[in-house]
Amino acid sequence: MMKTDVVVIGAGAVGCAIARELSKYEVDVIVVDKNEDVGGDASKSNSAIIHTGYDASPGTLESQLVVAANPMFPKLVEDLQVPFKATGAILPAITEEQFEQLPAIKEKAFRNRVYDVEYLTKEQILKMEPNMNPEVRGGLYIPRESIIDPFIYVQALAENANENGVHFLLNTKVTGIQTEDQKIRSVETTGGTIETKYVINAAALYCDEIAAMVGKAEYKVVARRGQFYILDKNTSCKVEHIVLPIPTKVTKGKLMCPTIHGNMLVGPTAEDLNNKTDKSVTADGLASIVEDVRRLVPGVKIGDTITQYSGLRPNRNPEGLHVDIWDDLEGYINLSGVRSTGLTLSAAMGVYVAQLMKEHGCRLVYKENFKNTRKGIRIFHEMSREEQDAVIKENPKYGNIICRCETITEGEIMDAIHRPLGARSMDAVKRRVRAGMGRCQGGFCGPKVIEILAREWKIPVDQVNKNETGSYMVTGKTR
Ligand SMILES: Cc1cc2nc3c(=O)[nH]c(=O)nc-3n(C[C@H](O)[C@H](O)[C@H](O)COP(=O)(O)OP(=O)(O)OC[C@H]3O[C@@H](n4cnc5c(N)ncnc54)[C@H](O)[C@@H]3O)c2cc1C
Repeated sequence: MMKTDVVVIGAGAVGCAIARELSKYEVDVIVVDKNEDVGGDASKSNSAIIHTGYDASPGTLESQLVVAANPMFPKLVEDLQVPFKATGAILPAITEEQFEQLPAIKEKAFRNRVYDVEYLTKEQILKMEPNMNPEVRGGLYIPRESIIDPFIYVQALAENANENGVHFLLNTKVTGIQTEDQKIRSVETTGGTIETKYVINAAALYCDEIAAMVGKAEYKVVARRGQFYILDKNTSCKVEHIVLPIPTKVTKGKLMCPTIHGNMLVGPTAEDLNNKTDKSVTADGLASIVEDVRRLVPGVKIGDTITQYSGLRPNRNPEGLHVDIWDDLEGYINLSGVRSTGLTLSAAMGVYVAQLMKEHGCRLVYKENFKNTRKGIRIFHEMSREEQDAVIKENPKYGNIICRCETITEGEIMDAIHRPLGARSMDAVKRRVRAGMGRCQGGFCGPKVIEILAREWKIPVDQVNKNETGSYMVTGKTR
């Protein structure tokens, strides 16, 4: 039987941020995830915005954590080498009714302690964003709304936690939790039993099912789907800022923004589902995105789409972000309702959960040798000519371009595979180095990446997975 102090269920942004925070202390931590890679479910299919919390409900835990998290990012992304840019967001008022809402939104931002929101005139907006609807009447500027690479963010948290002693059990599903005398005793998984004193439930979409394992099923998770378009980097109608609509009660609305790698992101929808698995995109959903975003940026070129995707927000019923601890169940911390801002608030959630654990008797002694930095994968196409020559001399695999759309070399793919918590599947490679993320979506580099994965993991090519076990890329010979 495995033994630890803390089991974190879920290797998404939230679970990995908690694990990294706990890795600063003399405590044994195991992160368990049913997926084959770190990165979560919702954490890899979102808008990739680091929010300020300007539009949160004032006084809520969500507001507290998002507002606290935003200023943590500049140092965090520097320490962990995560692509990040403080683009700022523009909230344009197109109609008179929207224009009249601006003071209330600014006032709400103030109540959330986001003090740097500014009014913009029509002229200022059109100067900042020439492709904005010329009928715009004015708007708000939220300077610290930022964009990030959400895949690398979670990988970086996990790799750094791992380097500081956290164990990750991937491809391992939690199937039960044992308690004794109102205390946590062990966690049952498909990989065996883990004896533990603490369980942190960061299972997002499935956190209600985990809570039911300890008799705390006080809520239900309802998946709220968001569909997106990704446009080609060369699309002629671009924006430089995050262009946000005036938010409604249900959703932040459909936006257009650059991604950290220079594509345009357009979406998402907000549709409550009656299941937790339907990640399809639909004709109606996509049409509604075009209709809404054209009100903000009329010239958006949807024909330049290179792919579409959807993500499921782990919405909670009754709603609201909750972090619960019960007096009659020592050692159990339950997170639920980490819905639309979880990527952002994860940074503060780690600190919040560690503090809660201290307040509930967990002795957390700071590790003298905690290493706060992580080295990212060296990106060949961002190097100078001299650096490229030097790196090819050191390792000729950097001279072999595998993904032509994104200019990704074999050297980078090898690094993605062999680093801590390295890539074992096609999607895991894609999310680490972007091979297959470009215009051809892996049409050219896919077969080469399959061969590299098979060679490096010493497995037959027909055992290489797209993502989960059994999602084979190759199923047999055609002749
Ligand atoms: C469309 C959309 C847009 C969004 N936009 C933004 C945005 O711009 N900015 C922002 O801050 N947030 C955004 N969010 C929200 C954000 O993505 C989520 O709140 C956040 O990713 C949740 O992280 P998580 O770690 O809690 O969950 P997840 O990433 O879902 O991770 C949970 C993990 O738990 C694991 N798990 C579940 N059950 C089990 C089990 N039984 N055993 C083992 N493992 C288990 C899963 O495999 C998964 O890996 C958006 C979300 C969506 C869907």
